[in-house]
Amino acid sequence: MDLKNRLKMSFLIIIILPICLAIMTGKLIIEYQLNSIQKTYDMEFNTMQVITNPIQILNRVTRDVFNRIKTKAMKTPWELEDLEYIKELNSELQEKYSFLVVRKDEEIIFVGNAAKYSSVKNNLPSYNNHSTEVDGGIYLGGKNPILLKQQDFLYQDGSKGTIFVLTDVDNVVPQLKASAVQAVISFVLIIIITAFILIVWLYRGIIKPLNVLKRATKEMKEGNLNYSISVNSNDEIGQLCEDFEEMRIHLKELIEVKMQYEENSRELLSNISHDLKTPLTAIKGYAEGIIDGVADNPQKLDRYVKTIYTKANDMSSLVDELSLYARIDNNTVPYNFSIIGVDDYFCDCVDELSFELEIKNIKLEYENLVATDCKVIIDTEQLKRVIHNIVGNAVKYMGKPEGTVKVKLTDSGDMVEVEIEDSGCGIAEKDLPNIFERFYRADASRNSKQGGSGLGLAIAKKVIEEHGGNIWAKSEVGVGTSIIFTIMKWTDKEHIEKKFSKIKKGLELQVKD
Ligand code: ADP
Repeated sequence: MDLKNRLKMSFLIIIILPICLAIMTGKLIIEYQLNSIQKTYDMEFNTMQVITNPIQILNRVTRDVFNRIKTKAMKTPWELEDLEYIKELNSELQEKYSFLVVRKDEEIIFVGNAAKYSSVKNNLPSYNNHSTEVDGGIYLGGKNPILLKQQDFLYQDGSKGTIFVLTDVDNVVPQLKASAVQAVISFVLIIIITAFILIVWLYRGIIKPLNVLKRATKEMKEGNLNYSISVNSNDEIGQLCEDFEEMRIHLKELIEVKMQYEENSRELLSNISHDLKTPLTAIKGYAEGIIDGVADNPQKLDRYVKTIYTKANDMSSLVDELSLYARIDNNTVPYNFSIIGVDDYFCDCVDELSFELEIKNIKLEYENLVATDCKVIIDTEQLKRVIHNIVGNAVKYMGKPEGTVKVKLTDSGDMVEVEIEDSGCGIAEKDLPNIFERFYRADASRNSKQGGSGLGLAIAKKVIEEHGGNIWAKSEVGVGTSIIFTIMKWTDKEHIEKKFSKIKKGLELQVKD
Protein backbone atom coordinates (compact mmCIF):
# COMPACT_ATOMS: atom_id res chain seq x y z
CA MET A 1 0.00 0.00 0.00
CA ASP A 2 1.44 3.39 -0.90
CA LEU A 3 2.03 6.08 1.69
CA LYS A 4 -0.92 8.21 0.62
CA ASN A 5 -3.36 5.32 1.05
CA ARG A 6 -1.65 4.26 4.26
CA LEU A 7 -2.26 7.72 5.73
CA LYS A 8 -5.88 7.69 4.50
CA MET A 9 -6.31 4.27 6.07
CA SER A 10 -4.76 5.48 9.36
CA PHE A 11 -7.24 8.34 9.41
CA LEU A 12 -10.15 5.94 8.92
CA ILE A 13 -8.80 3.51 11.52
CA ILE A 14 -8.40 6.22 14.11
CA ILE A 15 -12.02 7.28 13.57
CA ILE A 16 -13.89 4.09 12.76
CA LEU A 17 -12.14 1.53 14.95
CA PRO A 18 -12.72 3.34 18.29
CA ILE A 19 -16.34 4.03 17.34
CA CYS A 20 -17.01 0.36 16.46
CA LEU A 21 -15.19 -0.92 19.52
CA ALA A 22 -16.95 1.62 21.76
CA ILE A 23 -20.35 0.56 20.40
CA MET A 24 -19.54 -3.10 20.90
CA THR A 25 -18.16 -2.76 24.41
CA GLY A 26 -20.89 -0.28 25.35
CA LYS A 27 -23.49 -2.82 24.25
CA LEU A 28 -21.83 -5.57 26.24
CA ILE A 29 -21.51 -3.40 29.35
CA ILE A 30 -25.15 -2.30 29.18
CA GLU A 31 -26.42 -5.83 28.63
CA TYR A 32 -24.39 -7.12 31.51
CA GLN A 33 -25.48 -4.33 33.86
CA LEU A 34 -29.14 -4.60 32.85
CA ASN A 35 -29.07 -8.27 33.69
CA SER A 36 -27.50 -7.44 36.98
CA ILE A 37 -30.16 -4.77 37.67
CA GLN A 38 -32.89 -7.20 36.75
CA LYS A 39 -31.54 -9.79 39.14
CA THR A 40 -30.85 -7.38 41.98
CA TYR A 41 -34.20 -5.59 41.87
CA ASP A 42 -36.24 -8.50 40.64
CA MET A 43 -37.55 -6.57 37.68
CA GLU A 44 -39.31 -8.30 34.89
CA PHE A 45 -38.08 -5.94 32.17
CA ASN A 46 -34.67 -5.45 30.70
CA THR A 47 -34.72 -2.46 28.48
CA MET A 48 -32.82 0.70 27.77
CA GLN A 49 -35.50 2.49 29.76
CA VAL A 50 -33.46 1.74 32.83
CA ILE A 51 -30.60 3.81 31.50
CA THR A 52 -32.65 6.56 29.96
CA ASN A 53 -35.12 6.89 32.83
CA PRO A 54 -33.58 5.64 36.09
CA ILE A 55 -36.44 7.16 38.14
CA GLN A 56 -38.50 4.24 36.82
CA ILE A 57 -36.24 1.90 38.71
CA LEU A 58 -36.36 4.00 41.84
CA ASN A 59 -40.12 3.80 41.68
CA ARG A 60 -40.19 0.09 41.08
CA VAL A 61 -37.65 -0.65 43.79
CA THR A 62 -40.14 0.05 46.54
CA ARG A 63 -43.34 -0.44 44.57
CA ASP A 64 -44.23 -3.83 46.09
CA VAL A 65 -43.75 -2.78 49.70
CA PHE A 66 -45.48 0.54 49.13
CA ASN A 67 -48.48 -1.13 47.48
CA ARG A 68 -48.82 -3.44 50.48
CA ILE A 69 -48.71 -0.45 52.81
CA LYS A 70 -51.29 1.34 50.68
CA THR A 71 -53.66 -1.64 50.71
CA LYS A 72 -53.31 -2.00 54.45
CA ALA A 73 -53.87 1.76 54.98
CA MET A 74 -57.12 1.53 53.08
CA LYS A 75 -58.45 -1.83 54.28
CA THR A 76 -56.83 -2.75 57.62
CA PRO A 77 -55.06 0.42 58.89
CA TRP A 78 -54.78 -0.96 62.43
CA GLU A 79 -52.17 -3.48 61.20
CA LEU A 80 -49.86 -0.53 60.48
CA GLU A 81 -49.87 0.31 64.20
CA ASP A 82 -47.90 -2.88 64.80
CA LEU A 83 -44.27 -1.77 65.13
CA GLU A 84 -43.04 -5.35 64.58
CA TYR A 85 -44.73 -5.39 61.20
CA ILE A 86 -43.22 -1.99 60.37
CA LYS A 87 -39.73 -3.26 61.31
CA GLU A 88 -40.25 -6.28 59.09
CA LEU A 89 -41.14 -4.06 56.13
CA ASN A 90 -38.19 -1.82 56.89
CA SER A 91 -35.69 -4.66 56.86
CA GLU A 92 -37.16 -5.77 53.53
CA LEU A 93 -36.61 -2.24 52.17
CA GLN A 94 -33.11 -1.95 53.51
CA GLU A 95 -31.89 -4.38 50.87
CA LYS A 96 -33.15 -1.90 48.32
CA TYR A 97 -31.36 1.14 49.74
CA SER A 98 -34.70 2.32 51.29
CA PHE A 99 -36.18 2.72 54.77
CA LEU A 100 -39.39 3.64 56.54
CA VAL A 101 -40.31 6.60 58.72
CA VAL A 102 -43.61 6.53 60.68
CA ARG A 103 -45.23 9.65 62.04
CA LYS A 104 -48.09 9.79 64.50
CA ASP A 105 -49.56 13.28 64.57
CA GLU A 106 -46.43 15.43 64.80
CA GLU A 107 -44.32 12.81 66.53
CA ILE A 108 -41.90 10.54 64.64
CA ILE A 109 -42.41 7.11 66.17
CA PHE A 110 -40.22 5.03 63.83
CA VAL A 111 -37.05 5.82 61.83
CA GLY A 112 -35.59 3.02 59.68
CA ASN A 113 -32.26 4.77 59.01
CA ALA A 114 -31.32 7.58 61.43
CA ALA A 115 -28.35 8.85 59.43
CA LYS A 116 -30.31 9.30 56.20
CA TYR A 117 -33.38 10.57 57.99
CA SER A 118 -31.50 13.54 59.53
CA SER A 119 -31.02 15.10 56.10
CA VAL A 120 -34.76 15.07 55.31
CA LYS A 121 -36.43 15.40 58.67
CA ASN A 122 -37.28 19.06 58.13
CA ASN A 123 -38.65 18.45 54.65
CA LEU A 124 -41.18 15.74 55.37
CA PRO A 125 -44.56 16.70 53.89
CA SER A 126 -47.51 17.22 56.19
CA TYR A 127 -50.48 14.86 56.54
CA ASN A 128 -52.67 14.68 53.51
CA ASN A 129 -50.19 16.49 51.27
CA HIS A 130 -51.40 16.08 47.72
CA SER A 131 -48.06 16.57 46.06
CA THR A 132 -46.99 13.08 47.18
CA GLU A 133 -49.82 11.56 45.20
CA VAL A 134 -47.70 11.96 42.12
CA ASP A 135 -47.02 8.51 40.76
CA GLY A 136 -43.54 7.48 41.83
CA GLY A 137 -43.36 9.79 44.81
CA ILE A 138 -41.54 13.10 45.21
CA TYR A 139 -37.92 13.86 44.95
CA LEU A 140 -36.15 15.64 47.78
CA GLY A 141 -32.90 17.12 46.47
CA GLY A 142 -30.05 18.52 48.48
CA LYS A 143 -26.87 16.98 49.79
CA ASN A 144 -28.40 13.50 50.02
CA PRO A 145 -31.13 13.19 47.40
CA ILE A 146 -34.05 11.06 48.52
CA LEU A 147 -37.16 9.74 46.77
CA LEU A 148 -40.13 9.91 49.05
CA LYS A 149 -43.48 8.09 48.96
CA GLN A 150 -46.11 8.96 51.50
CA GLN A 151 -49.10 6.97 52.76
CA ASP A 152 -51.50 8.56 55.26
CA PHE A 153 -53.84 6.58 57.47
CA LEU A 154 -55.80 7.04 60.69
CA TYR A 155 -54.87 5.40 63.95
CA GLN A 156 -57.63 3.69 65.90
CA ASP A 157 -57.42 6.48 68.48
CA GLY A 158 -58.05 9.04 65.75
CA SER A 159 -54.42 10.26 65.46
CA LYS A 160 -53.11 11.10 62.01
CA GLY A 161 -50.58 8.58 60.91
CA THR A 162 -48.19 8.78 57.96
CA ILE A 163 -45.79 6.17 56.66
CA PHE A 164 -42.94 7.48 54.51
CA VAL A 165 -41.00 5.18 52.24
CA LEU A 166 -37.67 6.87 51.54
CA THR A 167 -35.18 5.69 48.96
CA ASP A 168 -31.53 6.77 48.88
CA VAL A 169 -31.21 7.94 45.26
CA ASP A 170 -27.45 8.17 45.51
CA ASN A 171 -26.97 4.54 46.29
CA VAL A 172 -29.72 2.92 44.35
CA VAL A 173 -28.83 1.14 41.15
CA PRO A 174 -25.03 1.19 41.59
CA GLN A 175 -24.88 -0.65 38.26
CA LEU A 176 -25.58 2.65 36.51
CA LYS A 177 -22.59 4.28 38.11
CA ALA A 178 -20.49 1.22 37.40
CA SER A 179 -21.61 1.31 33.76
CA ALA A 180 -20.43 4.88 33.42
CA VAL A 181 -17.05 4.06 34.98
CA GLN A 182 -16.70 0.94 32.84
CA ALA A 183 -17.63 2.92 29.73
CA VAL A 184 -14.95 5.54 30.45
CA ILE A 185 -12.30 2.87 31.17
CA SER A 186 -13.29 0.93 28.04
CA PHE A 187 -13.09 4.05 25.91
CA VAL A 188 -9.63 4.91 27.22
CA LEU A 189 -8.52 1.30 26.59
CA ILE A 190 -9.98 1.39 23.08
CA ILE A 191 -8.11 4.61 22.31
CA ILE A 192 -4.87 3.10 23.66
CA ILE A 193 -5.36 -0.13 21.66
CA THR A 194 -6.20 1.75 18.45
CA ALA A 195 -3.19 4.03 18.87
CA PHE A 196 -0.98 0.99 19.52
CA ILE A 197 -2.25 -0.87 16.43
CA LEU A 198 -1.73 2.25 14.32
CA ILE A 199 1.76 2.85 15.62
CA VAL A 200 2.76 -0.79 14.95
CA TRP A 201 1.26 -0.61 11.46
CA LEU A 202 2.95 2.67 10.62
CA TYR A 203 6.21 1.49 12.17
CA ARG A 204 6.23 -1.65 10.03
CA GLY A 205 5.34 0.29 6.90
CA ILE A 206 7.44 3.42 7.29
CA ILE A 207 9.93 3.48 10.14
CA LYS A 208 11.30 -0.05 9.66
CA PRO A 209 12.18 0.31 5.96
CA LEU A 210 13.52 3.79 6.66
CA ASN A 211 15.82 2.31 9.30
CA VAL A 212 16.99 -0.30 6.79
CA LEU A 213 17.69 2.49 4.33
CA LYS A 214 19.48 4.52 6.97
CA ARG A 215 21.71 1.56 7.83
CA ALA A 216 22.47 0.94 4.14
CA THR A 217 23.34 4.62 3.63
CA LYS A 218 25.70 4.48 6.60
CA GLU A 219 27.37 1.33 5.23
CA MET A 220 27.74 3.00 1.85
CA LYS A 221 29.17 6.13 3.45
CA GLU A 222 31.77 3.95 5.14
CA GLY A 223 32.67 2.46 1.77
CA ASN A 224 30.85 -0.88 2.04
CA LEU A 225 29.13 -1.32 -1.30
CA ASN A 226 28.28 -4.98 -0.65
CA TYR A 227 25.53 -4.20 1.87
CA SER A 228 22.37 -5.05 -0.03
CA ILE A 229 18.83 -4.31 1.13
CA SER A 230 15.49 -5.87 0.26
CA VAL A 231 12.23 -4.36 1.41
CA ASN A 232 9.02 -6.17 0.48
CA SER A 233 6.62 -3.31 -0.04
CA ASN A 234 5.19 -1.52 -3.05
CA ASP A 235 4.80 1.90 -1.50
CA GLU A 236 6.99 4.94 -2.07
CA ILE A 237 9.50 3.82 0.54
CA GLY A 238 9.70 0.35 -1.06
CA GLN A 239 10.36 2.07 -4.40
CA LEU A 240 12.98 4.27 -2.77
CA CYS A 241 14.71 1.17 -1.33
CA GLU A 242 14.63 -0.51 -4.75
CA ASP A 243 16.13 2.59 -6.39
CA PHE A 244 18.72 2.75 -3.65
CA GLU A 245 19.63 -0.90 -4.27
CA GLU A 246 19.93 -0.26 -8.01
CA MET A 247 22.10 2.76 -7.30
CA ARG A 248 24.33 0.66 -5.02
CA ILE A 249 24.77 -2.03 -7.70
CA HIS A 250 25.48 0.60 -10.33
CA LEU A 251 27.97 2.39 -8.10
CA LYS A 252 29.67 -0.90 -7.28
CA GLU A 253 29.96 -1.73 -10.96
CA LEU A 254 31.35 1.72 -11.69
CA ILE A 255 33.95 1.37 -8.97
CA GLU A 256 34.88 -2.13 -10.16
CA VAL A 257 35.24 -0.83 -13.71
CA LYS A 258 37.33 2.06 -12.41
CA MET A 259 39.53 -0.31 -10.43
CA GLN A 260 39.85 -2.61 -13.42
CA TYR A 261 40.70 0.41 -15.54
CA GLU A 262 43.38 1.50 -13.10
CA GLU A 263 44.76 -2.04 -12.98
CA ASN A 264 44.77 -2.15 -16.79
CA SER A 265 46.55 1.21 -16.94
CA ARG A 266 49.23 -0.03 -14.55
CA GLU A 267 49.62 -3.23 -16.56
CA LEU A 268 49.67 -1.26 -19.80
CA LEU A 269 52.35 1.07 -18.46
CA SER A 270 54.54 -1.82 -17.35
CA ASN A 271 54.05 -3.58 -20.72
CA ILE A 272 54.87 -0.43 -22.64
CA SER A 273 57.99 0.24 -20.61
CA HIS A 274 59.06 -3.40 -21.03
CA ASP A 275 58.43 -3.43 -24.79
CA LEU A 276 60.21 -0.12 -25.26
CA LYS A 277 63.09 -1.09 -23.04
CA THR A 278 64.15 -4.08 -25.19
CA PRO A 279 64.89 -2.16 -28.43
CA LEU A 280 66.21 0.79 -26.39
CA THR A 281 68.74 -1.45 -24.62
CA ALA A 282 69.87 -2.80 -28.01
CA ILE A 283 70.17 0.72 -29.45
CA LYS A 284 72.13 1.84 -26.36
CA GLY A 285 74.43 -1.23 -26.57
CA TYR A 286 75.20 -0.78 -30.25
CA ALA A 287 75.70 2.96 -29.90
CA GLU A 288 78.12 2.36 -26.99
CA GLY A 289 79.92 -0.19 -29.19
CA ILE A 290 80.40 2.49 -31.83
CA ILE A 291 81.55 5.09 -29.25
CA ASP A 292 83.95 2.67 -27.58
CA GLY A 293 85.43 1.73 -30.97
CA VAL A 294 84.21 -1.89 -30.84
CA ALA A 295 82.94 -1.44 -34.41
CA ASP A 296 86.50 -1.12 -35.63
CA ASN A 297 85.92 -1.91 -39.30
CA PRO A 298 83.43 -0.42 -41.83
CA GLN A 299 81.43 -3.69 -42.16
CA LYS A 300 80.94 -3.92 -38.39
CA LEU A 301 80.08 -0.24 -38.17
CA ASP A 302 77.54 -0.67 -40.97
CA ARG A 303 75.95 -3.67 -39.17
CA TYR A 304 75.79 -1.71 -35.91
CA VAL A 305 74.18 1.31 -37.53
CA LYS A 306 71.68 -0.87 -39.41
CA THR A 307 70.68 -2.65 -36.18
CA ILE A 308 70.22 0.71 -34.48
CA TYR A 309 68.02 1.80 -37.41
CA THR A 310 65.93 -1.42 -37.34
CA LYS A 311 65.40 -1.20 -33.56
CA ALA A 312 64.44 2.47 -33.82
CA ASN A 313 61.95 1.48 -36.54
CA ASP A 314 60.51 -1.26 -34.28
CA MET A 315 60.10 1.32 -31.52
CA SER A 316 58.41 3.73 -33.86
CA SER A 317 55.88 1.14 -35.11
CA LEU A 318 55.27 0.01 -31.52
CA VAL A 319 54.53 3.59 -30.48
CA ASP A 320 52.22 3.96 -33.52
CA GLU A 321 50.32 0.77 -32.64
CA LEU A 322 50.15 1.83 -29.03
CA SER A 323 48.67 5.18 -29.83
CA LEU A 324 46.15 3.52 -32.17
CA TYR A 325 45.23 0.97 -29.53
CA ALA A 326 44.85 3.70 -26.92
CA ARG A 327 42.49 5.60 -29.21
CA ILE A 328 40.47 2.50 -30.06
CA ASP A 329 40.34 1.46 -26.40
CA ASN A 330 39.11 4.90 -25.35
CA ASN A 331 36.55 4.88 -28.16
CA THR A 332 38.00 8.07 -29.60
CA VAL A 333 38.34 6.61 -33.09
CA PRO A 334 35.32 7.74 -35.11
CA TYR A 335 33.40 4.99 -36.91
CA ASN A 336 31.76 5.71 -40.24
CA PHE A 337 29.44 2.83 -40.92
CA SER A 338 28.21 2.23 -44.42
CA ILE A 339 26.15 -0.38 -46.19
CA ILE A 340 28.23 -2.14 -48.79
CA GLY A 341 28.10 -5.30 -50.89
CA VAL A 342 30.13 -7.92 -49.02
CA ASP A 343 31.48 -9.60 -52.17
CA ASP A 344 32.67 -6.31 -53.70
CA TYR A 345 34.39 -5.29 -50.51
CA PHE A 346 36.30 -8.55 -49.98
CA CYS A 347 37.23 -8.83 -53.66
CA ASP A 348 38.90 -5.40 -53.38
CA CYS A 349 40.71 -6.40 -50.18
CA VAL A 350 42.00 -9.64 -51.70
CA ASP A 351 43.19 -7.77 -54.80
CA GLU A 352 45.03 -5.29 -52.61
CA LEU A 353 46.74 -8.02 -50.59
CA SER A 354 47.49 -10.55 -53.31
CA PHE A 355 50.45 -8.66 -54.77
CA GLU A 356 52.17 -8.25 -51.40
CA LEU A 357 51.63 -11.96 -50.57
CA GLU A 358 52.75 -13.13 -53.98
CA ILE A 359 56.19 -11.57 -53.37
CA LYS A 360 56.43 -13.61 -50.19
CA ASN A 361 55.48 -16.83 -51.96
CA ILE A 362 52.10 -17.03 -50.32
CA LYS A 363 49.07 -17.95 -52.36
CA LEU A 364 45.91 -15.98 -51.52
CA GLU A 365 42.60 -17.74 -52.16
CA TYR A 366 39.12 -16.26 -51.92
CA GLU A 367 35.85 -18.14 -51.66
CA ASN A 368 32.43 -16.52 -51.25
CA LEU A 369 29.54 -18.74 -50.16
CA VAL A 370 27.27 -15.78 -49.43
CA ALA A 371 24.71 -14.44 -51.93
CA THR A 372 26.52 -11.98 -54.20
CA ASP A 373 24.00 -9.20 -53.55
CA CYS A 374 24.35 -9.56 -49.78
CA LYS A 375 25.12 -6.26 -48.07
CA VAL A 376 26.93 -5.74 -44.79
CA ILE A 377 27.16 -2.79 -42.48
CA ILE A 378 30.78 -1.91 -41.77
CA ASP A 379 33.35 0.84 -41.35
CA THR A 380 35.41 -0.01 -44.44
CA GLU A 381 38.65 1.54 -43.17
CA GLN A 382 38.53 -0.03 -39.70
CA LEU A 383 37.62 -3.48 -41.10
CA LYS A 384 40.52 -3.20 -43.55
CA ARG A 385 42.81 -2.68 -40.57
CA VAL A 386 41.45 -5.92 -39.03
CA ILE A 387 41.98 -7.89 -42.24
CA HIS A 388 45.51 -6.47 -42.60
CA ASN A 389 46.38 -7.40 -39.02
CA ILE A 390 45.13 -10.99 -39.46
CA VAL A 391 46.70 -11.52 -42.87
CA GLY A 392 49.87 -9.78 -41.60
CA ASN A 393 50.06 -12.35 -38.78
CA ALA A 394 49.50 -15.21 -41.26
CA VAL A 395 52.50 -13.95 -43.23
CA LYS A 396 54.57 -13.23 -40.12
CA TYR A 397 53.99 -16.63 -38.54
CA MET A 398 54.04 -18.72 -41.75
CA GLY A 399 57.36 -20.30 -40.74
CA LYS A 400 57.72 -21.90 -44.20
CA PRO A 401 59.18 -20.67 -47.49
CA GLU A 402 55.77 -20.84 -49.11
CA GLY A 403 52.17 -21.20 -47.94
CA THR A 404 48.53 -20.37 -48.45
CA VAL A 405 46.11 -17.87 -46.99
CA LYS A 406 42.43 -18.44 -47.68
CA VAL A 407 39.64 -15.91 -47.16
CA LYS A 408 36.24 -17.60 -46.98
CA LEU A 409 32.82 -15.98 -46.51
CA THR A 410 29.86 -18.00 -45.25
CA ASP A 411 26.28 -17.11 -44.42
CA SER A 412 25.31 -17.36 -40.76
CA GLY A 413 21.77 -15.99 -40.47
CA ASP A 414 21.91 -12.30 -39.59
CA MET A 415 25.69 -12.31 -39.88
CA VAL A 416 28.36 -13.02 -42.45
CA GLU A 417 31.18 -15.20 -41.14
CA VAL A 418 34.65 -14.34 -42.43
CA GLU A 419 37.37 -16.97 -41.98
CA ILE A 420 41.02 -16.18 -42.72
CA GLU A 421 42.89 -19.47 -42.72
CA ASP A 422 46.65 -19.88 -43.10
CA SER A 423 48.94 -22.85 -43.44
CA GLY A 424 51.45 -21.40 -40.96
CA CYS A 425 53.10 -22.72 -37.80
CA GLY A 426 49.89 -22.68 -35.76
CA ILE A 427 49.33 -21.62 -32.15
CA ALA A 428 49.85 -23.83 -29.10
CA GLU A 429 46.63 -24.81 -27.34
CA LYS A 430 47.63 -23.03 -24.13
CA ASP A 431 48.16 -19.74 -25.99
CA LEU A 432 44.99 -19.88 -28.05
CA PRO A 433 42.58 -18.41 -25.44
CA ASN A 434 44.90 -15.44 -24.82
CA ILE A 435 45.93 -14.23 -28.26
CA PHE A 436 43.22 -11.52 -28.31
CA GLU A 437 44.54 -9.99 -25.09
CA ARG A 438 46.66 -6.91 -25.52
CA PHE A 439 50.44 -7.42 -25.35
CA TYR A 440 49.95 -11.19 -25.37
CA ARG A 441 52.51 -12.93 -27.53
CA ALA A 442 52.92 -16.70 -27.62
CA ASP A 443 56.33 -17.90 -26.40
CA ALA A 444 57.20 -19.14 -29.89
CA SER A 445 56.65 -15.66 -31.39
CA ARG A 446 58.43 -13.90 -28.52
CA ASN A 447 61.54 -15.92 -29.13
CA SER A 448 61.37 -15.58 -32.91
CA LYS A 449 63.00 -12.81 -34.85
CA GLN A 450 59.55 -11.56 -35.91
CA GLY A 451 58.77 -8.19 -34.48
CA GLY A 452 55.38 -7.60 -32.96
CA SER A 453 53.66 -5.65 -30.30
CA GLY A 454 51.02 -8.13 -29.19
CA LEU A 455 48.38 -5.50 -30.04
CA GLY A 456 47.31 -6.55 -33.57
CA LEU A 457 44.61 -9.04 -32.52
CA ALA A 458 43.54 -6.93 -29.52
CA ILE A 459 42.83 -4.08 -31.96
CA ALA A 460 41.01 -6.50 -34.31
CA LYS A 461 38.81 -7.75 -31.44
CA LYS A 462 37.88 -4.25 -30.35
CA VAL A 463 36.98 -3.16 -33.91
CA ILE A 464 34.88 -6.30 -34.57
CA GLU A 465 33.02 -5.84 -31.28
CA GLU A 466 32.26 -2.25 -32.25
CA HIS A 467 30.73 -3.71 -35.42
CA GLY A 468 28.45 -5.87 -33.27
CA GLY A 469 30.31 -9.06 -34.21
CA ASN A 470 32.52 -11.71 -32.61
CA ILE A 471 36.01 -12.92 -33.23
CA TRP A 472 37.69 -16.22 -32.33
CA ALA A 473 40.49 -18.53 -33.46
CA LYS A 474 41.07 -22.18 -34.31
CA SER A 475 44.55 -23.52 -34.69
CA GLU A 476 46.67 -26.63 -34.87
CA VAL A 477 50.41 -26.47 -34.35
CA GLY A 478 52.25 -27.24 -37.58
CA VAL A 479 49.02 -27.21 -39.65
CA GLY A 480 47.81 -23.64 -39.52
CA THR A 481 45.53 -21.07 -37.92
CA SER A 482 42.04 -19.80 -38.71
CA ILE A 483 40.88 -16.45 -37.39
CA ILE A 484 37.12 -16.15 -37.78
CA PHE A 485 34.99 -13.06 -37.27
CA THR A 486 31.41 -12.06 -37.96
CA ILE A 487 29.95 -8.86 -39.39
CA MET A 488 26.35 -7.80 -39.50
CA LYS A 489 24.21 -8.21 -42.59
CA TRP A 490 22.09 -5.28 -43.70
CA THR A 491 18.47 -6.39 -43.59
CA ASP A 492 16.30 -3.45 -42.67
CA LYS A 493 17.06 -0.38 -40.63
CA GLU A 494 14.66 -1.12 -37.81
CA HIS A 495 16.08 -4.59 -37.34
CA ILE A 496 19.65 -3.28 -37.26
CA GLU A 497 18.75 -0.48 -34.86
CA LYS A 498 17.39 -3.01 -32.44
CA LYS A 499 20.47 -5.16 -32.58
CA PHE A 500 23.13 -2.56 -32.92
CA SER A 501 22.53 0.64 -31.03
CA LYS A 502 25.53 2.39 -32.53
CA ILE A 503 23.89 2.44 -35.92
CA LYS A 504 21.01 4.36 -34.33
CA LYS A 505 22.71 7.47 -35.58
CA GLY A 506 21.29 6.19 -38.88
CA LEU A 507 22.04 9.44 -40.67
CA GLU A 508 25.67 8.49 -40.96
CA LEU A 509 24.74 5.42 -42.98
CA GLN A 510 25.57 5.57 -46.64
CA VAL A 511 24.86 2.92 -49.24
CA LYS A 512 27.90 2.22 -51.37
CA ASP A 513 27.19 0.55 -54.69
P1 ADP B 1 51.81 -9.64 -32.61
O1 ADP B 1 52.14 -8.23 -32.79
O2 ADP B 1 52.72 -10.35 -31.64
O3 ADP B 1 51.59 -10.38 -33.86
P2 ADP B 1 49.03 -10.10 -32.27
O4 ADP B 1 48.08 -9.57 -31.26
O5 ADP B 1 48.73 -9.83 -33.67
O6 ADP B 1 50.46 -9.61 -31.80
O7 ADP B 1 49.06 -11.66 -32.04
C1 ADP B 1 49.22 -12.18 -30.76
C2 ADP B 1 49.95 -13.48 -30.78
O8 ADP B 1 49.15 -14.50 -31.39
C3 ADP B 1 51.17 -13.45 -31.62
O9 ADP B 1 52.30 -13.02 -30.87
C4 ADP B 1 51.32 -14.88 -32.03
O10 ADP B 1 52.00 -15.61 -31.04
C5 ADP B 1 49.92 -15.40 -32.10
N1 ADP B 1 49.41 -15.43 -33.49
C6 ADP B 1 48.55 -14.56 -34.05
N2 ADP B 1 48.24 -14.90 -35.32
C7 ADP B 1 48.92 -16.02 -35.57
C8 ADP B 1 49.05 -16.90 -36.72
N3 ADP B 1 48.36 -16.65 -37.86
N4 ADP B 1 49.85 -17.94 -36.61
C9 ADP B 1 50.50 -18.21 -35.50
N5 ADP B 1 50.44 -17.44 -34.36
C10 ADP B 1 49.68 -16.37 -34.42
